[in-house]
Amino acid sequence: MADLQSVEAALAALLEGVRPLPAQRLSCQQAAGRVLAEAVPAHLDVPPFDNSAMDGYALHHGDAGGWLEVSQRIAAGAAGEPLTRGTCARIFTGGAIPPGADCVVMQERCDIEGAGVHIPAEIPAGDNIRRRGRDVSAGDELLPTGELLEAAALGHLAGQGITEVAVRRRPRVVLLSTGDEIVDPGQPLGPGQIYNSNRPMLKRLLERFGADEVRVASIPDDAEGTRRALAAAAREANVVITTGGVSVGEEDHVKAAVEALGQLDLWRLAIRPGKPLALGRLPAGDHEARFVGLPGNPVSCFVGAWLFLRPLMGALLGAQSMTTLPRLSARAGFDTTTGPRQHYMRVALEFTHEGILAKAFRDQNSGVLSSCIGADALAVIPPESRIEVGDSIDCLWLSGG
Ligand code: AMP
Ligand code: MG
Repeated sequence: MADLQSVEAALAALLEGVRPLPAQRLSCQQAAGRVLAEAVPAHLDVPPFDNSAMDGYALHHGDAGGWLEVSQRIAAGAAGEPLTRGTCARIFTGGAIPPGADCVVMQERCDIEGAGVHIPAEIPAGDNIRRRGRDVSAGDELLPTGELLEAAALGHLAGQGITEVAVRRRPRVVLLSTGDEIVDPGQPLGPGQIYNSNRPMLKRLLERFGADEVRVASIPDDAEGTRRALAAAAREANVVITTGGVSVGEEDHVKAAVEALGQLDLWRLAIRPGKPLALGRLPAGDHEARFVGLPGNPVSCFVGAWLFLRPLMGALLGAQSMTTLPRLSARAGFDTTTGPRQHYMRVALEFTHEGILAKAFRDQNSGVLSSCIGADALAVIPPESRIEVGDSIDCLWLSGG
């Protein structure tokens, strides 16, 4: 449809001018799950010295193939003496290779008799030795800016003896619910009312995407109250999100309030679900909060969060890898046809010997949140297309935060 806009254009508008938040120094323990604000150089070789990969005997390879006296014992954590040629050292995994030795023979291949040990012939130099600096060389870049500090990266930092790093501050987010029909769980449900599903769902997603603890509130249904709620949210947050009430032509206080406080752009996207999307900016003193107005349908919120909120969090965190979703090809486990809008179907991925199978919940209506349960990916079905079981389809992988 000519008058509908693309996801890419809306995303570019949303991310335009977004700079990563300032850095803060945190202990490595507190930095788990955070994004590095500056590259970390290696100042140590890892491993820091040649060491044994096995329990066995260290020797000069020229002495292999015969009986050798065991002249010393080197456990992990001990420094050995220079090795006398014609002898070997009893050595344990992680033990430092003594000067003069250049290979290790695993103990299972040796025969022990008295103070001597029989070493098989033709042991190549370097065998079973983990070389100094094999993993990391001092002076190299250990981790780049923008690295997400997950398990292996934390191990790498510890391998350098590092205790503190500079990471990006977490984006502060305020999540506001609109809709007179929306009631919080814990309250009784009156006629015509529904519980607020979007709030816990989006809060959880935003926290997975790296947000600081998300403040939530409901917007009162009047112009002045709405403006005050949005102004307060903008002062404390980097991102202000509303749900509901962005359908074009709807009488709505959020749009008027965002326009009064800053600027607002209404988008009509050529996608299903999630056609209406409001993007804006809310200046507040020394900073400017980004505004995102998602439609009220829980499925639209789920899809909108992955397509728009995750990249926005990524841009604020300086995490390049978060600004796009990984794409993969799968076989459709369903038939479908699309109209003028691109369909983002929620699919569960099954990894089979024949490849990846994408299975869709039977009802893909935007009001049916069941379709998001167990969704590992969004299958992107182009406009005006017909997909049959077994066809190859493109999926956006909803992998992690
Ligand atoms: P709207 O975008 O305001 O027109 O809302 C679209 C649909 O989503 C309506 O059926 C609303 O009742 C529903 N809806 C809006 N907000 C929520 C919410 N927080 N939780 C569950 N459903 C909602
Ligand atoms: Mg509404």
